[in-house]
Amino acid sequence: MPEKFDCIVVGAGPAGISCAHDLAKGGANVLLIERGEYPGSKNVMGGVLYRKMMEDIIPEFYKEAPIERPIVEQRFMMMDKESAVTFSYKGLEWAKEPYNNFTVLRANFDQWFAEKAVEQGAILVCETVVLECIVENGKVIGVRTDRPDGDIYADVVVLADGVNSLLAQKLGFHKELKPEETALATMEILKLDKKIIEDRFNLEENQGCTIELFGDATKGILGTGFLYTNKDTLSIGVGTLLSGMIKHKIKPYDLLEYVKNHPMIRPYIQGSEPAEYLAHLIPEGGFNSMGKIVGNGVIVIGDASQLVNAIHREGSNLAMTSGRLAAETVLLAMQSENFSESMLSHYKEKLFAGFVGQDMKKYKDSTHHFNKFPQYFEEYIPMINKAASQMFTVDGSSKWEKQKKVIRGIGSAKEKMKLARDVYKAWKVMK
Ligand SMILES: Cc1cc2nc3c(=O)[nH]c(=O)nc-3n(C[C@H](O)[C@H](O)[C@H](O)COP(=O)(O)OP(=O)(O)OC[C@H]3O[C@@H](n4cnc5c(N)ncnc54)[C@H](O)[C@@H]3O)c2cc1C
Repeated sequence: MPEKFDCIVVGAGPAGISCAHDLAKGGANVLLIERGEYPGSKNVMGGVLYRKMMEDIIPEFYKEAPIERPIVEQRFMMMDKESAVTFSYKGLEWAKEPYNNFTVLRANFDQWFAEKAVEQGAILVCETVVLECIVENGKVIGVRTDRPDGDIYADVVVLADGVNSLLAQKLGFHKELKPEETALATMEILKLDKKIIEDRFNLEENQGCTIELFGDATKGILGTGFLYTNKDTLSIGVGTLLSGMIKHKIKPYDLLEYVKNHPMIRPYIQGSEPAEYLAHLIPEGGFNSMGKIVGNGVIVIGDASQLVNAIHREGSNLAMTSGRLAAETVLLAMQSENFSESMLSHYKEKLFAGFVGQDMKKYKDSTHHFNKFPQYFEEYIPMINKAASQMFTVDGSSKWEKQKKVIRGIGSAKEKMKLARDVYKAWKVMK
């Protein structure tokens, strides 16, 4: 190994691998360090991988990558205890090249993706923990690892070490994660015959479906659940903010069992066998919780810089785009041999000029808003279910009477005003 690299990337998730891939492709001498046994071994994701951002790195990757199914249908289920109001979009344009999104299993996908970075010339070292950045005269000049003689030097260090980035925290770039800005999700991969999956989810071969679960999936606590189809497995999971779990004294694995046994979900997974159990944190504080992301000789990308759009369950695509932009910035810095904060700020400018920064800003208050006003999940989803039941039950009363009953069900004039205000406030934080 050379004594000094152009760039060291810490963490081989989608952010780090994207960055290392593009750096190596651009001719940089890059070292990618991962603490896990192999890339993907420590990574957790419901499983939706976004084609566009991945193709910005490897065009037509889906022709050889280990993807599970192209997603042709996205369903959204607003659940009460014994009912659900579901809406969905199914489009066969998503079943054809170039597709839209795919389900993936990270343990397989990340390994393949990292191999692509290695093919470009990146050096991948696994089972190595970076303990801290080496700082000299206010500039990051390398990393200290847990290996004997483990100090390694570089012009730039890119931190892609995931949600609670202890390395960026040690640099003073951000504070400890807050329970009201961090979700804990647990998930299981369930083995089920391929044909049964296709019959149950109304799919043809090589088509996939995602179902997002709201309301009773999290017992009314702010959060979501999911059920995604893979080739011959299902990914099922649920997550809520840590603060919600603490307040309601809920254990994450109990919540997952609750979802698996929910009468709206049980029939989908019946007869399946658990193959893997996973749990992970998700940074959901959004733009307001982002810390410093650029310093002298250092850039922070992906979950390590809080780049998650919780409203649209996007994270891997933000991670990949941030990795790509960080690589572009380091290659520019190499040309001018300037690795100062002001030079590396090109990354930040590009990030905020594009969809990543814009979406982070668009939803900057959403987590805080829905956390502060729990009635959206606790009260309004059951209300929607009750209204649907009343409207769709044919019992001899006129549709006028039914409409009146639904409106009466909202409560007093004051409660109706409160509902109208809440709808307006929700629109405002999401607009
Ligand atoms: C349950 C769940 C469901 C999700 N579903 C989706 C989804 O459907 N679609 C989507 O786009 N996003 C989803 N996300 C979010 C997505 O997983 C993340 O946004 C994405 O993985 C972030 O990528 P990353 O590379 O920044 O971080 P990570 O994937 O977390 O990678 C960080 C890497 O750094 C390594 N590392 C950490 N510290 C060190 C160290 N000190 N030294 C060396 N290595 C280190 C870790 O081992 C890890 O491999 C989900 C997340 C969860 C938890």
